[in-house]
Amino acid sequence: MNIGFIGLGVMGGPMAGHLAAAGHRVRGFDLTPGAAAARGLETAESAADAARDADVVFTMLPHGGAVRGVVEESLAGAMAPGALLVDCSSAEPWLTTGTAALLEARGVGMVDAPVSGAGWGAEAGELVFMCGGAEADMARIAPLLDAMGRKTFHVGPLGAGHAMKTINNVITAMAVVSTTEAMLIGKAWGLIPSVMADVLNVSTGQSFWTTERLHQDVLNRKFEDGFKLELMLKDVRIANRLGRDQGLDLPMLALGERLWEQADRDLGPARAVTEMVRWCETQIGG
Ligand code: NAD
Repeated sequence: MNIGFIGLGVMGGPMAGHLAAAGHRVRGFDLTPGAAAARGLETAESAADAARDADVVFTMLPHGGAVRGVVEESLAGAMAPGALLVDCSSAEPWLTTGTAALLEARGVGMVDAPVSGAGWGAEAGELVFMCGGAEADMARIAPLLDAMGRKTFHVGPLGAGHAMKTINNVITAMAVVSTTEAMLIGKAWGLIPSVMADVLNVSTGQSFWTTERLHQDVLNRKFEDGFKLELMLKDVRIANRLGRDQGLDLPMLALGERLWEQADRDLGPARAVTEMVRWCETQIGG
């Protein structure tokens, strides 16, 4: 297939690389010059250039506003009728249908297909896709998703993938805070952090955070996670807004949003998500 790939950062770069390795023609575009060449892809001059003649265009951008902007300014005018946009960004579900409507007028379809698996999952082709859209479109892109991931879920109509992704991530975001606070209790009491991590990883306190982050990036004080803290804050905000829109009162998630917002303000842009632990320690004095 002819594929356009827009957004070649921590996630998009390796994802596009897998599509090229599977034999597809991939034309990549990112605001950062050299991003496509760094992954051995053809470099497009613009998003519109990447989309021209593409059967499928992927977006892997920071948020739904960026996706909408690219669609409005570039893709809606450049994609051919019958082509398909697959948005893998973790985006605001309430924006998804509006973005799709901009394309629909041109006979272009859309699927939302955000991912879980972090940078290492993207590099290894081990992502999990959670998708919203039409059955026929899902069948069409299945081989492409298989080239980048280990599992695809079709969770509902357009926007359902984006909603599912925010639910996944807000659970992780809350686990970051609760795990940090609980381990600070243990540390103050005299328990050794690495021993606590070993126990948690084979006990009911286990989570993605304890198995994939504690030893690898937190306890060794590396704080080099490829996932940016501001992106996690965005996910937490999306979940809270989705909840409010459904009339739900969510006290813990509301508090979590305030904590992540304060950390983002204090730490500044482009900080690794694991820095949240250091911020919590400073607040608590542990
Ligand atoms: P990133 O910041 O590394 O990459 C985003 C890329 O988009 C950057 O290279 C940036 O230059 C590019 N970009 C922004 N606006 C653009 C535009 N208008 N045109 C072209 N390029 C543009 O972020 P990431 O970690 O790759 O995350 C991308 C998306 O995936 C986000 O929605 C994030 O929440 C989600 N996500 C990230 C992870 C992770 O662990 N990093 C895991 C799952 C999902």
